[in-house]
Amino acid sequence: MSPIPPLDNPAFPAEVALDERDGRYLRKAIVWSHLGRRQGNRPFGAVIVSASGQVLAEAYCNSSESGDVTGHAETNAVRALAGQGLAREVLAEATIYSSGEPCVMCAGAIFWSNIGRVVFGIDAERLRIFRGERGDQRDAELSCRDVFAASPHPIECIGPALIDEAGAAHVGAWKT
Ligand SMILES: [Zn+2]
Repeated sequence: MSPIPPLDNPAFPAEVALDERDGRYLRKAIVWSHLGRRQGNRPFGAVIVSASGQVLAEAYCNSSESGDVTGHAETNAVRALAGQGLAREVLAEATIYSSGEPCVMCAGAIFWSNIGRVVFGIDAERLRIFRGERGDQRDAELSCRDVFAASPHPIECIGPALIDEAGAAHVGAWKT
């Protein structure tokens, strides 16, 4: 049985419905989360897409592989934007799709990138069921939405979405 709480459990954030386009790219991020797990990492993936539908960057969390604790999917994707010569205006209209709700570090990276829209899969609350109480797996309990709300430019945040699909990569992926 899946350890992911039922979608109608009121103790957890309600799932948001996505349109076809957002669903397509979020599923792409989920595919990256599986690829990352296959390489021995935590299962997180991210894809950055321009308003015109161009995929600007794709990445998975590679912290375990690289030993770099900042190697989350979103930070790796944001770093992959470097040197592409993308205008801030282009990034303001871009969306980052993340298989899991961005952590506080990634929320900061998204802020600095000027990306104006975030769509994420499984939420931080449900992820904490997988993280458990181990000190090396717990996250800082500050919502990305609180970080985005402090931004002087608008950052739209949509999620959780496709929770069961995004959460499937996490089943059996964490130490208990
Ligand atoms: Zn992160």
